[in-house]
Amino acid sequence: MDIKKTQDYYGSLGYDELCSCAYCQNYIRQIQCEYPLVAEYLQEFGINIKKPFETMPLEPTEDGYIEYIAAQYIVYGEQAKFEKKTVNSVNIDIADCHPATRIEEPHFVIEIYPIRLKWIFGEL
Ligand SMILES: [Zn+2]
Repeated sequence: MDIKKTQDYYGSLGYDELCSCAYCQNYIRQIQCEYPLVAEYLQEFGINIKKPFETMPLEPTEDGYIEYIAAQYIVYGEQAKFEKKTVNSVNIDIADCHPATRIEEPHFVIEIYPIRLKWIFGEL
């Protein structure tokens, strides 16, 4: 993987370019505080955990939580050297299936799962 290019990508990616749906916004607002060790681990590769490429939410539950089957992140470079890892019970792995990224340079998509957060958007 190319950490420098990945860093540059997340640095130039604006929050207004991220998905604006309630599920993604709920995720973006809480993920760093609720999963600090995962955030730190991703940062070593240049990934900003608050800028997911895609989130895959289930429906919020009645006790006010929401589970994400996975959240996906773009990484620049070759995926050959990426190793699957588990941090704080969260799996970090290559995503086999993801939407088109429209990026021409070598890159791949990873996913982190499972993620469980409060559903704060239901209270707004
Ligand atoms: Zn979304």
